[in-house]
Amino acid sequence: MDVKKMAFELKDKLIEMRRHFHQFPEIAYEEFKTSSYIADKLSKLDIEVKTGIAKTGVVGILKGNGDKTIALRADMDALPVTEKNDIEYKSRYEGKMHACGHDAHMSMLLGAAMILSKLIEHLKGNIKFIFQPSEESLPGGAKKMIEEGVLDNPTVDAIFGLHADPTMSTGKVGYKHGVLMAFTSEFTIILQGKGGHAAVPQMSIDPIVMASDVIQELQKITSRWVSPLEPLVVTIGSIHGGTTFNIIPGEVELKGTVRVLNMELVDKVKGMIDDILKGITDIYGGTYSFEFVKGYPVLKNDKAFTILATTIIKELFGEENAVEIEDPLMGGEDFAYYLEKIQGTFLRLGTGNKEKGSNYPWHHQRFNIDEDALPLGTALFTKFAVDFLSLDDR
Ligand code: MN
Repeated sequence: MDVKKMAFELKDKLIEMRRHFHQFPEIAYEEFKTSSYIADKLSKLDIEVKTGIAKTGVVGILKGNGDKTIALRADMDALPVTEKNDIEYKSRYEGKMHACGHDAHMSMLLGAAMILSKLIEHLKGNIKFIFQPSEESLPGGAKKMIEEGVLDNPTVDAIFGLHADPTMSTGKVGYKHGVLMAFTSEFTIILQGKGGHAAVPQMSIDPIVMASDVIQELQKITSRWVSPLEPLVVTIGSIHGGTTFNIIPGEVELKGTVRVLNMELVDKVKGMIDDILKGITDIYGGTYSFEFVKGYPVLKNDKAFTILATTIIKELFGEENAVEIEDPLMGGEDFAYYLEKIQGTFLRLGTGNKEKGSNYPWHHQRFNIDEDALPLGTALFTKFAVDFLSLDDR
């Protein structure tokens, strides 16, 4: 069976579906129209459909002749971004946009469902098509779908997913053994002082000065407290406090993120932040609150499945188009939750093309994908299922 040819025959359909999603973007846990469109497409293929998993998630189940089950996953959410692209299928909703390529992921996976529904009687097992809400916001849709049993009945043995990548040219597919993406987190600090007149600082406890010390000191976690060989990000992304020239405010709020590639560092870094806050507020006589919300875990690809993936990429698109990704990214991806439970791999699909303007970074107002990549993604999803379900039982 030539899955690449079958995928290319669907190209117009893939473009049509992707443009539909693109015009009607819905953000995290609001993917109602998106999921009903998907459920409708799947049920027309005689695929058993379950809706309402993790609020807006959809799962299609295709049963073949065997006990093995592979899951193929696409995320559905758009972002709170206003599109600046001048295209006929531009987002119809001000302030919402598919600026991360999830529209393409859904279209490619629906394409794979169209092909696999025709091939299933030849396959030794089952396929679950997972359309997941909220990849972009905590708590990730992956975590909720797992809690609601998406990996059970039938039990999923392996999972495969991919992400559009504008930094890689269309035609290329990136793979990586081991760690691909970082642990992420979100924290909020409130530094509580005592407000007063700017001219009599001795009568106040100045949270702005405390904040400036805290920010400086937090940088030293990376530079002084952790090995230079250990990837670590501590970023303060927001600072709010005060109203005008001559008033010392009562409090300052800081928001930030910690990212690591080694889960063992998470609690250590959290503890260091707390120690710094305690030390600095003690010096000034202030107090603080510190809320640390753990985000997605480190995304770690399974070795055997990454090897299978490279074989598939090379077979479909040629040796020269299989690109080994050298360094992990400090961004997060909730596909990590599936990989904590079962084997699998997450690939990056090149969608960058400067002439077509599809080389803007993720989340940019001009983010777009080269639609020539759509059949490639569909072929990858399809071949992964076909090859996994044709493998001899391990
Ligand atoms: Mn994304």
